[in-house]
Amino acid sequence: MAEGIPILNFLVPKEVLHEDGRLTGMLFDKVRAEYDARGRRQLVPTGEEPVHIECDDILVAIGQENSFPWIERDIGLEFDRWGLPKLDEASFQSSIPNVFFGGDAAFGPKNIIWAVAHGHEAAVSIDRFCRGEDVTQRPPPLVVMSGQKMGIHEWSYDNGVSLDLRYKVPHRDPSVSLRDIKAEVELGFDRELGFKEAQRCLNCDVQTVFTTSLCIECDACVDICPVDCITFTENGEEGELRQRLKAPAENLTQDLYVMDGLKTGRVMVKDEDVCLHCGMCAERCPTGAWDMQKFLLESAKTYLNGNGGHACRSR
Ligand SMILES: Cc1cc2nc3c(=O)[nH]c(=O)nc-3n(C[C@H](O)[C@H](O)[C@H](O)COP(=O)(O)OP(=O)(O)OC[C@H]3O[C@@H](n4cnc5c(N)ncnc54)[C@H](O)[C@@H]3O)c2cc1C
Ligand code: SF4
Ligand code: SF4
Repeated sequence: MAEGIPILNFLVPKEVLHEDGRLTGMLFDKVRAEYDARGRRQLVPTGEEPVHIECDDILVAIGQENSFPWIERDIGLEFDRWGLPKLDEASFQSSIPNVFFGGDAAFGPKNIIWAVAHGHEAAVSIDRFCRGEDVTQRPPPLVVMSGQKMGIHEWSYDNGVSLDLRYKVPHRDPSVSLRDIKAEVELGFDRELGFKEAQRCLNCDVQTVFTTSLCIECDACVDICPVDCITFTENGEEGELRQRLKAPAENLTQDLYVMDGLKTGRVMVKDEDVCLHCGMCAERCPTGAWDMQKFLLESAKTYLNGNGGHACRSR
């Protein structure tokens, strides 16, 4: 689309056209989407005249699916109705206990990130299987929270909030890229643009952490928060409490951060949904009751050690 290529939707291939043995174009039937009671989409012909598009070449782009005709059906491996092996979703173990699947072969085409994650999880299962342990049990992840304050006003991360919209990666001029298949289309950010884009990071891995015993209820954090997401108030039922906050917390799918034990008997309530992770509350707090802490999660892994090749566990 960025190269100005039109996307023509709701056209289904009907016929390839040629003259004197030379490709001249294609005919497409016009269709519309209709949904049945279960929400399944069907493409139904509109009855209009077919659309004729002239062309010199046709590139066929098809979907991908798994195919396991080469696995004999009498070896004890169970398949589902789509012909995929039946697997335990957590352990990746098949119906043959010592056979594990991962990547696209496990649950159909996904992407490389999933394939790598599957590999890690399946390795944990295989390691547990070889040790005679329950493969459905997953070792808990390691969670580390570390304060980011480095000085009175210094933080180990940049907490300025940028209102810039996402910067587009510069593209090569289509007059060049459309003529030369080898011409790289995305030119990448230069130093200045890359810096600006990085400044948009919301530091979601840096969390606001509240320590009740340090709070003197001066309300300074309430005053300085640019999005009014901190409130000190009487406790109450969640639905009613949400409406009593400095700014009502309307997103019910996002839990509130509530801490009690304050000297006045009130609670500190924070609406995580709108927090910008700007750290102004922590910077303004005179007692350090608010801290900005980096969250690190390390899932359990099994890997081969460098010399002996034996399986190791990260913990
Ligand atoms: C056109 C296309 C573009 C994609 N782009 C992206 C992308 O940009 N980013 C992204 O994250 N993902 C992308 N994907 C998805 C990604 O490539 C896959 O999710 C990923 O490669 C899956 O890894 P895998 O190891 O499970 O399987 P594969 O990488 O498919 O590896 C399976 C291997 O098993 C071999 N094999 C198959 N049958 C047998 C057999 N009987 N005996 C021995 N060997 C066999 C195959 O030759 C292959 O080498 C793309 C996929 C396609 C098709
Ligand atoms: S980090 Fe910023 S937005 Fe979030 S509570 Fe603190 S002051 Fe408010
Ligand atoms: S600024 Fe600090 S001490 Fe004051 S109310 Fe907020 S958390 Fe409590």
